[in-house]
Amino acid sequence: MVGWLSIFTGKEFIGYGSFVECSHCHNKVWLEVWQPYSQTRPYTIIPLPKQYGSFVVRCRICHWGVNIRKKERDRVRDILEEGKSATKESFARMDGKEKQHLLKNLNRCGFTELARYLAFGEQVT
Ligand SMILES: [Zn+2]
Repeated sequence: MVGWLSIFTGKEFIGYGSFVECSHCHNKVWLEVWQPYSQTRPYTIIPLPKQYGSFVVRCRICHWGVNIRKKERDRVRDILEEGKSATKESFARMDGKEKQHLLKNLNRCGFTELARYLAFGEQVT
């Protein structure tokens, strides 16, 4: 018998961060903020809650970056604050489902100000 459990991994997009010259590829970029997760899915049973890891702040071109632990979310909040215009721009191009998904992730992480900023003027409930 094989695979009663399977582990899925993925990552959630949290937003853009500061506009910087990447110290690795030397492009000028908006940093990206992601949060990886893993999820155990037993067959025929409802999947277990996602287990979220550290935040990843990385260059969007070469993907070089740093990890920031979940308990240092204030640092992540500051980084997101610097990139919120870029996040808003990309948010505006998302469809309704993607918007909901991003807002849900932001609220889960406690970045509620950013979620409110993005949702302002949008038809999102
Ligand atoms: Zn880079």
